[in-house]
Amino acid sequence: MIWLPSLWSEKLLHLLLPRTCAACARDLPFPLEGPLCGGCMQGLEPLRPPWCPRCGGPSNLRGPCPQCPRLDPGVPVARAAFKYRGPLPPLLHAFKYRGRLDAGRTLGDWMAGAWRRHPELGRPDALVPVPLHPARLRSRGFNQARVLAERLAPAARTPVRDLAVRVVDTPPQARRARAERGGRLAGAFKAAPWARGLRLVLIDDAMTSGETLAACAGALWEAGAADVKAFVLTRA
Ligand SMILES: [Zn+2]
Ligand SMILES: [Zn+2]
Repeated sequence: MIWLPSLWSEKLLHLLLPRTCAACARDLPFPLEGPLCGGCMQGLEPLRPPWCPRCGGPSNLRGPCPQCPRLDPGVPVARAAFKYRGPLPPLLHAFKYRGRLDAGRTLGDWMAGAWRRHPELGRPDALVPVPLHPARLRSRGFNQARVLAERLAPAARTPVRDLAVRVVDTPPQARRARAERGGRLAGAFKAAPWARGLRLVLIDDAMTSGETLAACAGALWEAGAADVKAFVLTRA
C-alpha cells in the first residue's frame, strides 16, 4: 500500500466525505477552520456586558434583573458565554446528539475565550462538570459538560474535577411535569465529601430554568464547598 502524505490523504478524505457546517449543513471548504461556515459564524451572539450580577442575563440594573425570579441556579453568580440564538442551538445539538465532538471542542474553546470577560468567577480550586447519570453517559458516550470543561481548564488555569455524581436520571418530560408541580430535582446529585472547603465553578452546556444547576450546586453546598458559581455555554 502506498502511504500518502498526510495533507494529501486528508484532502482526499475531505473530497470523498466533505465535512458539513454543523448548523446549516453546507459543505465546508478545505482546510477546515471549524465546525461552522463563515455565514453561520457571523450569526453567533456572545453575551456582552452589562449583565445581571446574579444570573448573568443582559441587564443594566445593580441588583437582580427581571429574569431572576424565574431562574434559580442555586448559586450567587451564574454566567453564560453565548445567547441561545442563531447557529448556537443547531451547533449544540450536533455536538450532543449527532456526536460532533469537533463542534464540542470548538464550543469549549469559545467558552475559554469568554472566561476572560468574567473576572467575577474568580480563581476557583476546580471546574466541576455537571455529571450525567451513568445510563445516559453510556448511551451518549461522553458528557458534554466534561468536554467543555476540559477545553476551558487551561484558560481558567484550574483543574477539572468530577466532584459530583448523578444518582437519579430524570427524563426531560418528567422533569417538566415535576417543575410544573413546583418540585425540584433535589436528591438527583451527590457530591464527594472532599468537595469540603473548595471554591468551585460548575460547568454545563445550557441553562434554562437553572433547576439542574441548582440541584447539583445544592449537593456541593451540602458537602461543605466554600463557594459555588456556575459558567455555562449558553442560556435561553
Ligand atoms: Zn453554516
Ligand atoms: Zn438576573
